[in-house]
Amino acid sequence: MIKGNKLYEGKAKIIYETKDKNLLIQHFKDDATAFNNLKKAKIEGKGVLNNRISEYILTNLSYCGIKTHFVKRLNMREQLIKKAEIFPIEFIVRNVATGSLSKRLGIPDGTVLEKPLMEYCYKKDELNDPLVSKEHIYAFGWATENEMKMIDKMTLRINDILSGLFRAVGIKLIDFKIEYGKAWNKDIEKNEIVLVDEISPDTCRLWDTKSEKKLDKDRFRKNLGNIIQAYQEVARRLGIMPEETNISEVNFGKTIPIKFKKK
Ligand code: C5P
Repeated sequence: MIKGNKLYEGKAKIIYETKDKNLLIQHFKDDATAFNNLKKAKIEGKGVLNNRISEYILTNLSYCGIKTHFVKRLNMREQLIKKAEIFPIEFIVRNVATGSLSKRLGIPDGTVLEKPLMEYCYKKDELNDPLVSKEHIYAFGWATENEMKMIDKMTLRINDILSGLFRAVGIKLIDFKIEYGKAWNKDIEKNEIVLVDEISPDTCRLWDTKSEKKLDKDRFRKNLGNIIQAYQEVARRLGIMPEETNISEVNFGKTIPIKFKKK
């Protein structure tokens, strides 16, 4: 698949056009950011791992009937995806209270929630992705009531599937963030709601069942170290990367541009 123009560059991914107007290439970078870009680093190999982990998760979700934008993995860092019109909302599901929920409402870290708690955030970096209600979503036309009904249902189903998938490999799914969009389905000649973006240790909180050791991006946010080792552990347990890889965590200094002499 030939890569076309760059359409968009985000904190952890780049999206390129392809010759097919309905397909895009999603490239996973090694960049890690937290606290809305205040903390930044390059973590060598993170993009490769997230590409594989996200491929594995989205493929398994589609086996369970969840429609996703994922088409196929192209190489170490790239996957072919369906072009989608993205809802400007981050959908967060929480099974255990931690992170911004504990901070915002003073709920003790680690409190197991009686049932999954869904939260919606408006995707707007300049405003730090604020928490919004469904009323805001309807008032500003970010999604319709029907669309939200479908998305809520899909989101809870995804939580069930992923909780089981991770539980089977000794990992607790604490919380996660997902996104949705509307993509063209050529078989039915209609737009349909699909899961987009990625699901990886960058977007989930994953704790080892026994030790409660963090196996996700909190290792970066909280300076816990061994980020790549944690992501590798997730991949290894899911059976994606059974062998040890030689990817290691590196803190890059400033890059020095190379100048080429004109001939
Ligand atoms: O920070 P907070 O507790 O709200 O995060 C909830 C979940 O959503 C975490 O798993 C976090 O990794 C994920 N998240 C994300 N991208 C964001 C905000 C949160 O992947 N912009």
